[in-house]
Amino acid sequence: MTTIKTTCARCGDIHLTPDDVSLELHPGGREGDYRFRCPRCTEPQRRPANARVVSVLLATGVPFEVIIPNPITDREIEAFAAALESEPDPLRLLAG
Ligand SMILES: [Zn+2]
Repeated sequence: MTTIKTTCARCGDIHLTPDDVSLELHPGGREGDYRFRCPRCTEPQRRPANARVVSVLLATGVPFEVIIPNPITDREIEAFAAALESEPDPLRLLAG
């Protein structure tokens, strides 16, 4: 099985399997952060992943998710929906 070599802040060099790691990709998908739980001290940790690390982790089958820094909030959606309802001609909003 593929092992991923990294370092733990407490234990030094450690080896992880793809199951131990999850990858958070920034929008665009080239860089991000990866999270893992150290198999020795069980300390959860997070490290930045540059483009090279991202490609290595993806190649080993690490699960990933894309993190959107400023997601649209429910409040914004409600405000938009309310604006649509109060607008007799919604298409006018799109025309700006
Ligand atoms: Zn450790």
